[in-house]
Amino acid sequence: MRALIVVDVQNDFCPGGALAVPGGDAVIEPINRLASQSPLVVATRDWHPADHGSFAEQGGPWPVHCVAGTPGAELHAGIDPELVDAVIDKGQEVGQEGYSGFEGTGLERLLREHDVDAVDVAGLALDYCVMATALDARRAGLEVTVHRGATRAVEVQPGDGERAVERLRAAGVEVVD
Ligand SMILES: [Zn+2]
Repeated sequence: MRALIVVDVQNDFCPGGALAVPGGDAVIEPINRLASQSPLVVATRDWHPADHGSFAEQGGPWPVHCVAGTPGAELHAGIDPELVDAVIDKGQEVGQEGYSGFEGTGLERLLREHDVDAVDVAGLALDYCVMATALDARRAGLEVTVHRGATRAVEVQPGDGERAVERLRAAGVEVVD
């Protein structure tokens, strides 16, 4: 069985958010289209404590974003909630990076319970949480397809999106438009 993993399509990663990914809201339409054709849809959320280790004030690389329970951490309203079967929160511990939806969560167990052997991955951002989630899905032995048109890269360094695609392909992930 196939499942779609919708990575971090949250207000803070969309235009106007605390850590906006350029064009982040452009993923919404293609994701709803993929979700409507997928038997199981799991959405992940970055769901951080206020003193998360990834925040600049704690010495991390990012501005404060996706603090648990705040509007910025909510899924973007454009994602049709009727299509989402389960929500997985990640990065809930201060010292947990939480890029991957598999890190310290019940995602792998959930997929196994549904006999999932192949996943489609989309969302934000391609060069961080989408890449980390897709690589962990491969490590878990799943067939993985990343839908590039349903992702956007943050590109802290220009070219990071392209490099992410190369890393994914090298790990046996199929990357399609
Ligand atoms: Zn985060």
